[in-house]
Amino acid sequence: MQAKIICPSCRTEIPLDDVNVSTDVALCRHCGQNWSYAELIQDNTTEIDLLNPPKGAWFRDTPPRGFQAGVSTRSAIAFFLVPFMCVWSGISLGGIYGTQFARGHFSLGISLFGIPFILGTLLFGGAAVMSACGKVTVTVEGDDGILFTGVGPIGLRRRFSWRNVTKVRLTETYGRRSVCQQITFDGLKQYNFAGGINSERLNFMLAALRKKWRETNHSPA
Ligand SMILES: [Zn+2]
Repeated sequence: MQAKIICPSCRTEIPLDDVNVSTDVALCRHCGQNWSYAELIQDNTTEIDLLNPPKGAWFRDTPPRGFQAGVSTRSAIAFFLVPFMCVWSGISLGGIYGTQFARGHFSLGISLFGIPFILGTLLFGGAAVMSACGKVTVTVEGDDGILFTGVGPIGLRRRFSWRNVTKVRLTETYGRRSVCQQITFDGLKQYNFAGGINSERLNFMLAALRKKWRETNHSPA
């Protein structure tokens, strides 16, 4: 069984004579480009239609030289996490600090005892909000890009150089209880993002980014 090797740029089939597996090079004679054979094989199995993203993912071109790919971090756990956090924070913080305000009497010991509950509220509250309405986006304009993780306009924004991205790949990150997949940009600096997003959305985003990366002529020449 031999999969067809298709040039990502001009869609011409690359004959096996023009493939050198040992040096990982596939040459398209039609457009004179060298490609990584290993990546073409991988990409041909994950060819995507950018106009037909799965639910919770999106892609749009912003001509002339830009685009945005995004995924929602929305997940079913929000139905549990959001009410749970409201109740948990309400009871713990209300009990610890609310009563002090109500009595007009401040206790240092009890207030210090409450600090882990504040941190817990911030941490898990953030996770709850992300699971309800968060997103991860990659926005590229020319050579520059922004990675965003957050809710609406609020979140973590990382600037990176799209031109200097040498590889777009799927990597794994090890959580406390599980292994989850994320997308990695290699280059002068490495960027990891979209960890733990459901795999359908993650794979769409990965394929979209790879496609745009090839189109903007990052050929492994
Ligand atoms: Zn070609």
